[in-house]
Amino acid sequence: MNNLGARIVRRIRREGPLSLAAFMAMALYDPQDGYYARRDPLGAAGDFVTAPEISQIFGELIGAWCADLWQRLGRPDPIILAELGPGSGALMADLLRGAAAAPDFRAAARVHLVEVSPLLRERQRRRLKDAEPHFVAGFDELPPGPLLLVANEFLDALPIRQLLRAADGWHERQVTLDAAGRLLLAEGPESAALSLLVPAACRAAARGAVIEICPAAAALMASLGERLAHQPGTALFVDYGYCAPPLRPTLAAVRRHSATGLLEHPGGADLSAHVDFAAAAAAAGAAGAVVHGPVSQRRFLVALGAEARLTALSRQATPAQREGLAAGLNRLIDPAQMGTLFKALAVTSPGLAAPAGFADEDCSADE
Ligand code: SAH
Repeated sequence: MNNLGARIVRRIRREGPLSLAAFMAMALYDPQDGYYARRDPLGAAGDFVTAPEISQIFGELIGAWCADLWQRLGRPDPIILAELGPGSGALMADLLRGAAAAPDFRAAARVHLVEVSPLLRERQRRRLKDAEPHFVAGFDELPPGPLLLVANEFLDALPIRQLLRAADGWHERQVTLDAAGRLLLAEGPESAALSLLVPAACRAAARGAVIEICPAAAALMASLGERLAHQPGTALFVDYGYCAPPLRPTLAAVRRHSATGLLEHPGGADLSAHVDFAAAAAAAGAAGAVVHGPVSQRRFLVALGAEARLTALSRQATPAQREGLAAGLNRLIDPAQMGTLFKALAVTSPGLAAPAGFADEDCSADE
């Protein structure tokens, strides 16, 4: 067992079983041995790939989308252009290029990156040095003022809890120890208090159903909603997830592009869960912001002009590059690949029209 695994075992001996969220918080964020302290998930020897790593078209379209929203917000100068979990910096680099047609927006934008990982901060600093980014550790540290915020595959990284419906009620799935002192996933005791954490529509779920809740995502969306209720702005979240809870666990561990056991490599594997878009939207909406979507990634990118962008880029490309561009975009919008599993959600301050790509639709329309 690795060093972090041994520390988790000691903590369980001391304090008793951990919620999955507490386990995930240590595995992902421990400052010495956590996943984001030690590993570059998107590097050459990384664990997964994301939309901005697959196609430049993704970020370029979002750049034009941001420039459009900046106009609609009344061209505020300065405006905070923030990204949560910017990874390699690819999305922000492509976004800024995609927004180049609006040089006034580019000049007004103050780039702020919310990033925990020191390794990724270094990559972002290098890649985005011309944009002179400011780094902050959390959403709440962003300075006040008009805001445009983007986040791709950020919410899925936040710690979740799993609640299991058994014959006698709801139990929490916990990380505990087996007789040999190894980490083990087991059910905690039945608790009436847990049933209050289950979305009302799922409380009567059949035996065996598993609900995942993400308190950190709810808290973030509530802070964002509160901010946008009082200060102008728009936020865009793109991630894989669902509108109706699938009633089964989605939390998964990935190491070097392959699935691995949840408890096998604490700190050495990415842990992520599908995003509950309905819960995220409800938290932002309850705080006073206006929510649009979610819509499928396919619908969103196509509405933003993905095909036209592909055609324009292909004009100056070699045949091999052309093939790569088409294959990349196809991966993002093909329903059998990332097209419908991934969804886009927009949160705006009240009084703005629906942003491009979000005309009165929700994901129930294309699933
Ligand atoms: N958006 C990028 C990277 C996705 S991976 C892309 O699409 O390629 C998740 C990113 O979120 C990483 O940059 C990770 O370091 C960061 N991250 C995860 N949890 C975080 C947290 N709680 N606060 C700030 N950044 C976080």
